[in-house]
Amino acid sequence: MHALEIDRVTVRFRDGEGWTNALTDVSLDLAPGEFLAVTGPSGSGKSTLLAVAGMLLTPTEGTVRLAGRDVTEADAKTRTDLRRGGIGFVFQQPHLLASLTALEQLLMVARLDGDRSKEAEQHARDLLAQIGLGPVLHKRPSQLSGGQQQRVGIARALMGDPKLLLVDEPTSALDHERGVAIIDLLRTLTEERGLGTLVVTHDLGTLGPNDEVVRLVDGKLAMPEAAH
Ligand code: ADP
Ligand code: MG
Repeated sequence: MHALEIDRVTVRFRDGEGWTNALTDVSLDLAPGEFLAVTGPSGSGKSTLLAVAGMLLTPTEGTVRLAGRDVTEADAKTRTDLRRGGIGFVFQQPHLLASLTALEQLLMVARLDGDRSKEAEQHARDLLAQIGLGPVLHKRPSQLSGGQQQRVGIARALMGDPKLLLVDEPTSALDHERGVAIIDLLRTLTEERGLGTLVVTHDLGTLGPNDEVVRLVDGKLAMPEAAH
C-alpha cells in the first residue's frame, strides 16, 4: 500500500479577476521507504503540492489518499487526527522555541497531545540520539548550529511516528556540506523507518546520484531529471 497517492490533482486559486492554476493534473505515488525529491523554479507549485499531501489544502480537482484511505473530502477533525498520527512536517526553518532545550522541543509535541509519560521522554531521547544529537540534548537553539537546529526539527517531526514525511526546502538556510548531511539523514531515516518522504528542494547539488527526482514547471510535472 502506498504511503501517499496524489491522483490527477489540480489546485486553482482566485487571482484578482481570474484564476491561477498552482497545480495542474499532477499525479504521484510514494511507497513506504521511498525518498522522492521535488524540484522546480520558484512559483512552480512545490509548496502547494506539499500542502495538498499534508491535507492543509483541499485540491480543486483530483484525489489524495493516505495509506490507501481517500482523504480528499475528510472533515477538519479527521484531517487533524490523521496529521497528528501519520504525517511529519519539516520546514525551511525549524521554528524552535528559544527558551527550550532540544529535548524539551520534542517533549512539547507529546505534551500538546496530553502525553507526559516516561515513554514519551525515552522516545524523544532515542530519536535525538539516533539523529546524532545525544550530546546536545540539553542545549537551547542559540547554542546549536544551523544544521543541529534543523536536525532537532526533523526529530520533532518524527515524535508521532509518522508514515509520511513532508519536507520543504530543508537545506536552503545551510551551507553546502551541512545541506548534504541533512539530505543524507532524511534518506537514511526514510529507509530505516519505512517512511514515504517527499522533499522539496531547488538545491539539486545536495541530492545523491541515485535519488529519484521529479520537476514541477508551471504547476505541471515535467520530465524527470538526474541529480548533478
Ligand atoms: P513554489 O513553492 O514552487 O514556489 P507555490 O506552490 O508556493 O510555489 O505557488 C505556486 C503558484 O500558486 C504561484 O503562482 C503562487 O503565486 C500561487 N499561490 C500559492 N498559494 C496561493 C494562495 N494562497 N492564493 C493565491 N495564489 C497562490
Ligand atoms: Mg515554496
